[in-house]
Amino acid sequence: MMGHTHGLIGAALGLGVATVYHFTPEASLVLAGLAGGLALLPDIDHPRGNIRQKLGVVGHISLFWLKHRGITHTLIALVAVAAAAYMLLPLPYAIGAAAGYLSHLLADMVTVSGLPVFWPYKKESLHILPKRLRLTTNTLPEHLLALVLMLFLAGQIPQFLG
Ligand SMILES: [Zn+2]
Repeated sequence: MMGHTHGLIGAALGLGVATVYHFTPEASLVLAGLAGGLALLPDIDHPRGNIRQKLGVVGHISLFWLKHRGITHTLIALVAVAAAAYMLLPLPYAIGAAAGYLSHLLADMVTVSGLPVFWPYKKESLHILPKRLRLTTNTLPEHLLALVLMLFLAGQIPQFLG
C-alpha cells in the first residue's frame, strides 16, 4: 500500500484510541499524528518510503541492507516497537503507536503480495483475504479506501474547532 493510505489508516486508529480514552482535542491530534507516523515506519525499508525519504542520504547509507517487506514487516518488529512504546510513552499513546504499526502490517497483508509476518519462523507470504479480494497497491480499490478515510478524518475536524 502507498504511504498516504497507511498514514490515514494509522491516524484514524489514533483518533479511535483517543476517543476511547476521552482525550482532549489537542491530545487527540498528537495521538493521531503519532499513530499515523508509526503506520509509515515499516516502509523505512523501501528507498521511496516516506520516512526513508526524510532521512535523505543518511537513511539510504544506513538502511540500504533492509529488504523491502522484510524484518520491519514482521511480528518481531511489531513486538519490538510495542515494547519500546510501552516503556517510553503513557499507555494510551503506546497503544496508539502499536496500533499504527500493526495497521501497516495488516494493510500490507490484504495486498496481492502479502507479508511473511512470521519470518524467520515461516518464510512464506501470508494473506488475510481470499485471493479474489486482495488489493493491488496504487489501484482504484486502494484509492477508494484512502478517500473514505480522508472523508472520515475531515468529518472529525469540527470537534477540533470547538
Ligand atoms: Zn509496507
